[in-house]
Amino acid sequence: MTDEHYKWMRKAVDLAVQSISEPGRDDPPPAVGAVIVKDGIEVASAFRGQCAAGNHAEKCAIESAGERDLSGAVVYTTLEPCSRRNAPKVACAQRLIDQGVGTVYIGLYDPNPKIYREGWKMLRDAGISLRDFPADLRNELREINAAFLNQYRSNGKASGSATFDYVHSPIFTIGEPPVVIDTKWSHAASGVIHAYSERGQIALARYAESLDEIDDPSAMDFNPDKHSVTANEGNIIIFRGPRENIYAIVKVEQVLSLDRGDDRNEVAFTYEIRTINIKGPLDGLSEQE
Ligand SMILES: [Zn+2]
Repeated sequence: MTDEHYKWMRKAVDLAVQSISEPGRDDPPPAVGAVIVKDGIEVASAFRGQCAAGNHAEKCAIESAGERDLSGAVVYTTLEPCSRRNAPKVACAQRLIDQGVGTVYIGLYDPNPKIYREGWKMLRDAGISLRDFPADLRNELREINAAFLNQYRSNGKASGSATFDYVHSPIFTIGEPPVVIDTKWSHAASGVIHAYSERGQIALARYAESLDEIDDPSAMDFNPDKHSVTANEGNIIIFRGPRENIYAIVKVEQVLSLDRGDDRNEVAFTYEIRTINIKGPLDGLSEQE
């Protein structure tokens, strides 16, 4: 990532902060900034609501560019371009495709599970190169957009703890129907344990020390080639459920092992289930004009 790109992403984040909420709206809107650059020169930029109340930043930036040719341009937008609008409105992803832009840098993906990554897919399928903002700017965007993001989180939150013999009963089911996640465990060493799930459904939240430190469990690296992680006492493991919007965040509290001189084989952990809220019809979406 060159400094040049970072500079424009930084500018997009600073623009996002200036977003103007439309009056009479009850759900928290996102703060969005967008910058369009061609041949190293800024062509246009905008924040949400700059052109008119509720206007999307990308739409406003494209309109600000007027008649200028945006083919091959690089677009830096702090939120994934929207993928669907109620006719006759045109989705921002489609507008960018129509303009023939070459590359789009995306800050946050839309947290609405119904449209999450759809904008990315539309752009990808149109042959546009896609890049993500770096983690430091994404973290900043999460703070700026906390209310917007939280409306899709923490519903169905459930928590608990478990202590069991992982040799005699290696499978432990977290949660209650219909929200259940199967976890599997096996011995590694004293104070260390292997945890298993389906491929691509498990990740280690490295360096996190408490369940509260996990903002978005889906942000972890769920490597599709991996079906296990190795955890020390104190480590936090994320299990993704059979549905993409359900996660179990598990903190390994203690691992005992007969092999290593303990008096029993036992794992103890605390956990929290996070169900990402699924909103209703498209009309209720967060990013409206
Ligand atoms: Zn849009």
